Amino acid sequence: LDDNLKKAEAYLERFRKDGVLNQIGGEAVPASDGTTFETISPIDLKPIAKVAHGKSKDIDRAARAAKAAFRDWAAMPGDARKKLLHKIADAIVARAEEIAFVECMDTGQALKFMAKAALRGAENFRFYADRAPSARDGRTLYGPGQVNMTTRAPIGPVGVITPWNTPFMLSTWKIAPALAAGCTVVHKPAEFSPLTARLLVEIAEEAGLPKGVWNLVNGMGEDAGKALTEHPDIKAIGFVGESRTGSMIMKQGAETLKRVHFELGGKNPVIVFADADLERAADAAVFMIYSLNGERCTSSSRLLVEASVYDKFTALVAEKARRIKVGHPLDPATVVGPLIHPVHEKKVLEYISIGKAEGATVAAGGEKVQGPGGGCYVGPTLFTGANNNMRIAREEIFGPVLTAIPFKDEAEALEIANDTTYGLTGYLWTADVTRALRFTEALEAGMIWVNSENVRHLPTPFGGVKNSGIGRDGGDWSFDFYMETKNIAFAT
Ligand code: NAD
Repeated sequence: LDDNLKKAEAYLERFRKDGVLNQIGGEAVPASDGTTFETISPIDLKPIAKVAHGKSKDIDRAARAAKAAFRDWAAMPGDARKKLLHKIADAIVARAEEIAFVECMDTGQALKFMAKAALRGAENFRFYADRAPSARDGRTLYGPGQVNMTTRAPIGPVGVITPWNTPFMLSTWKIAPALAAGCTVVHKPAEFSPLTARLLVEIAEEAGLPKGVWNLVNGMGEDAGKALTEHPDIKAIGFVGESRTGSMIMKQGAETLKRVHFELGGKNPVIVFADADLERAADAAVFMIYSLNGERCTSSSRLLVEASVYDKFTALVAEKARRIKVGHPLDPATVVGPLIHPVHEKKVLEYISIGKAEGATVAAGGEKVQGPGGGCYVGPTLFTGANNNMRIAREEIFGPVLTAIPFKDEAEALEIANDTTYGLTGYLWTADVTRALRFTEALEAGMIWVNSENVRHLPTPFGGVKNSGIGRDGGDWSFDFYMETKNIAFAT
């Protein structure tokens, strides 16, 4: 840990000294009004850096830079874009340690996961780099007396608004396909974790990305974020964040008829039938709620267990939860680090109090933990004896808190699983293939894993139903969002 702390300090030194600047038209710039805000480390609540506090004027400059860069970038041959995006991926790999360490200090996420997240960022660039040459491909459709040619073209400059959880990986996931499609970008990262977004845009420009193709404006949601969603030169908004923010963005973008893609919140069920491999299911359930501090949109925060094995299974999960190492994010053994910010920690602790008041039983955790640095540490928590009407079963807590609910049969399991306003993911554990087919068909979720934790295969669609989102990323789906389809009919 001591060695890692020294390395982290060395990586943070530049931010401590120079702060975090915006990037507009290829230039590192402060906010136009000179204001800044502070980003703190959730480990010890001490400030790390002053961040340029962009507002609508900065967004306007960035949008105009993205518009000016659009024509040439969109016209660049796909092969050339492919090479450039691979160079960005190479540069991410070369600086993966720096990215991971900075992310851990800024977000409190454990190094164990952030080291992988940095490399996954590179993979996202490689995946879309390889697809850049065929992004514009269309189809030929024959009609009576005509041949139709469909083509795709990049929609224009786009806005990307990202949340504070795993910000580096998520930003690459949204920005790489936009660039591969031929769009230019204005990125507004979350105010709680702005550091790696700065590294990312620098990496891209050092790898040769032309000026203005990718612009970065830090700021608050209600000023910089809002201005981005309202800007007439911005043709689409790729947004990842809370459901209620998605709803605000939709209103804000209405005037300019903004195309939107929303990846929002979840209250994802993991459903365990008695015939499942219970040991494997328990490991997966524990991983899916406590890894990444539970600050993960796809986390399985509701555990639905068949009544006949409920006590046995929840005891297994409780035992595993108690063994989880809560500690400094840079300690290689740590699984759960401090939560992102005192404001969020307060929210998570309030939900724990609500759960207790609602009559659920704390089977593990249930309180703040004194971790190194004295920051926002909360113990991995399991509530048993819960029902689906409790707020801890209905509202997104976005922390290491799992609510376990028994069900008597398949019909009741399905009813409870679908009794939520969300529909991002579901995880089903059963040895009965026919039941798995029947159940997954009826489960209201955009992504379901059967007998597995969340293992992401990049060509598959990613997104949610109900209040969990609009639209899909992944594979070719990202291009559907970032591109316009045109049909040209030739009379024969
Ligand atoms: P948030 O909605 O509070 O903020 C997300 C981003 O939106 C931030 O950059 C913020 O500044 C900006 N923002 C806020 N108000 C805005 C406005 N009026 N106009 C424009 N931008 C605005 O979310 P958060 O707390 O940062 O992140 C946690 C949430 O993100 C959780 O609900 C989680 O489930 C969700 N999430 C979803 C996915 C997914 O793929 N579905 C992935 C990660 C996180």
